[in-house]
Amino acid sequence: MSNYDDQNVFAKILRGELPCTKVYEDEHTLAFMDIMPQIDGHTLVIPKYPATTLFDLPPELAGHLLNSVQKVGKAVQVAMQHKGIVIMQLNDKSAGQTVFHLHFHVMPTSLGALSKQSHAHVMGDPAVIQQCADKIKAALAAL
Ligand code: 5GP
Repeated sequence: MSNYDDQNVFAKILRGELPCTKVYEDEHTLAFMDIMPQIDGHTLVIPKYPATTLFDLPPELAGHLLNSVQKVGKAVQVAMQHKGIVIMQLNDKSAGQTVFHLHFHVMPTSLGALSKQSHAHVMGDPAVIQQCADKIKAALAAL
């Protein structure tokens, strides 16, 4: 792990110091709703391992993380009734990363629609976020 700051918000969520709208958890990963969604259903999948970027993740944990991204992606597809899923993952401030704990964005949208939206800018409606989470959890349970 290189210069990992354990005060980042996702580290606090993992320690239970900050709340999140969780949709999935296993031994190695956690998935929860983005607080400033770029589209309804915008979900984040993170490793429990303290990696700042993808390049800090031990390779033996990469499979676990991708497995969860795949599961959550399929559930978002069903829950949000949108076949097109953009998976985005930013490494370093210079790439636009704003939270310095490795995460994959899972978004039921298209590259065109996404390019018209600002990233991590507007707080989502908590009620809508919760409704999306409930649908995603139901879809995960049915996978
Ligand atoms: P990044 O810019 O690092 O790729 O993405 C960070 C994401 O985390 C953004 O989409 C942003 O909306 C989201 N985010 C920032 N703070 C919080 C938080 O406290 N809780 C949740 N659930 N998402 C957050």
